Amino acid sequence: MLQTKLFTKTRREAPADEPSKNATLLIRAGYVYKEMAGSYAYLPLGLMVLEKIKSIVREEMNAVGGQEILMTTLQRKELWEQTDRWRDDMVDIWFKSELKAGGEVGFGWSHEEPIAEMMKGYINSYKDLPIYVYQFQTKLRNELRAKSGIMRGREFLMNDMYSFCLGEEDHTSFYNATIEAYKRVYKRLGLGDDTFVTFASGGAFTQFSHEFQTICEAGEDQIYINREKNIAINEEVYNPETLAKLEVAADDLTLVKTAEVGNIFNFGRQKASDLGLRFKDEAGQDVAVWMGSYGIGVSRVMGVLVEKFSDEKGIVWPHTVAPFLVHLVGLNLEDSAVRDYVYGIYQNLKAKGVEVLFDDRDVRAGEKFADSDLLGLPYRVIVSKKTKEEGKFEVVTRLDGSVRYLSEEELYADFDRDPNT
Ligand code: ATP
Ligand code: MG
Repeated sequence: MLQTKLFTKTRREAPADEPSKNATLLIRAGYVYKEMAGSYAYLPLGLMVLEKIKSIVREEMNAVGGQEILMTTLQRKELWEQTDRWRDDMVDIWFKSELKAGGEVGFGWSHEEPIAEMMKGYINSYKDLPIYVYQFQTKLRNELRAKSGIMRGREFLMNDMYSFCLGEEDHTSFYNATIEAYKRVYKRLGLGDDTFVTFASGGAFTQFSHEFQTICEAGEDQIYINREKNIAINEEVYNPETLAKLEVAADDLTLVKTAEVGNIFNFGRQKASDLGLRFKDEAGQDVAVWMGSYGIGVSRVMGVLVEKFSDEKGIVWPHTVAPFLVHLVGLNLEDSAVRDYVYGIYQNLKAKGVEVLFDDRDVRAGEKFADSDLLGLPYRVIVSKKTKEEGKFEVVTRLDGSVRYLSEEELYADFDRDPNT
């Protein structure tokens, strides 16, 4: 992509009304636009990052057998009344409205109730199970505080998956497979080492749920961890009973600040029972479906990546989610021979399948480098009059600032590899 064609511009100054580091950097670099606190628009480069995160999640959800759907944002009051979750004293983040034609509707903050209701149309017999479905959906939540940038939105993108099983055995095996799938997602996002499967409060049906918590200074949670034993406990369930159950001593745990990047729940048969989602088993008996729900905060994850992978100069995207692998920075473009040469390199890189953003703007070299650092693509390739004469490309790795000088062939060989590594 040509940078001159990008309508977004970088900004030197931080936006005055934005307290978070992630949104400040994302706004300055032109990845997102702030509509209001807790609501951010995704601009071309930001949408590319979001889509890359979604692709990783989608691949892993498909790999465990998930089928993708898209539920509605408008939801029926009657449905949520059946589980007593319509009341504002039960769920304190509802956005609600009234239809002009009469009647109240809610804006989806979760889809557990509507999907159970929908599945009544498709689940009749044990032969129909198991079913796993997932979606990427903008959830709406009337959060009281929205000061963490895209890490806490009043609208935000979630990947939510739901499992419908015959019984506990099937459920447990899928639940465990999903834990592994989630781990693969966070590993591919570059968060594997700092993300912990964490014991957290379970809700109505089980003692615990499992959260995926990533160490992050800007996170709003605190958990106790032991890296060697791979144990993590949310402070909200940190008590003698939990410690005894997990066979770990308080002295062996360290308190860290984290962001919740995922959460999975076992509902048992309760949720389906409340909503009348039943099937006929092999003996012809009516049984409530065993349900589970699984959520990844897709847009929150993007914020966490910026919080963790950035420095005083800007963002440092992991390869797997960077909008482009290479930032081709052309210098001396006022010289038409150099300009033609750099365009040729750009075309060659694209022909080799390298994702490349070409800074073809007529601005000073210093400004180009500062913008390049802010944007945070993994590699910067500087091409100038000197390159044309000497045949050596300066390649700067954004992560550590290291500089290499490569020939054209070496350059193509360097980028001709799996971007996951
Ligand atoms: P939190 O405790 O942070 O408010 P939650 O437990 O209410 O989150 P869940 O209902 O478990 O959230 O939603 C699944 C995932 O969606 C969370 O693990 C988190 O990653 C993400 N998420 C939840 N609320 C928000 C939000 N307001 N903005 C961005 N992501 C969110
Ligand atoms: Mg949660």
